[in-house]
Amino acid sequence: MFEQVKLQFEMNGLEPHIDQLTMETHYGKHHAAYTKMFNELAEKAGVAGKTAEEILSSLNDISDETLRKGLRNQGGGYYNHNLYFEQLSPNAKKTPEGKLFDAIKRDFGSVEEVIDLLSKAAIGQFGSGWSFLSCDKDGKLYVTASPNQDNPYSEGSGRKPILALDVWEHAYYLKYKNLRADYVKAFWEVLDWSVVEKRYEG
Ligand code: MN
Repeated sequence: MFEQVKLQFEMNGLEPHIDQLTMETHYGKHHAAYTKMFNELAEKAGVAGKTAEEILSSLNDISDETLRKGLRNQGGGYYNHNLYFEQLSPNAKKTPEGKLFDAIKRDFGSVEEVIDLLSKAAIGQFGSGWSFLSCDKDGKLYVTASPNQDNPYSEGSGRKPILALDVWEHAYYLKYKNLRADYVKAFWEVLDWSVVEKRYEG
């Protein structure tokens, strides 16, 4: 049974950066719906015993096209939002340290640069989607953008996403309207790098 990550803060805890109504809708409605649908489809496809990472990494094993597409969208929606909500905090650690910091410096030059690249990938994503920081098995870091609820697993890269920035309109439109860049800027105020560090090292 796939479950939504539990929030470590109140629905208004990320104000003013991410507002209460957006949190209630995004976590309470959108993410809840992805989770419900993913559980139903995983059951139907006979893959409910696998992890979400395994399912998203092996979508091609599912021969039924409707189930395969459904798992890609609903499973991605479930998984991406768990990444997203788990990494947000009212008491966010504002800069990475340790192994992740070293890898960012090696692969991008600076933390400012990786934040800039992730922001540009997010702002430049046409329509709904995400930007991700992901790492390969050697620890090399990548900045990419994905449409819809795709992610590095469902795209077949084999890389592990460690930071997920949601730029579906449901993530920001109630407060920021058409100003996606303002939401992206605010996102970094509540992005807890300690969670990203753990994912990188884990
Ligand atoms: Mn979303």
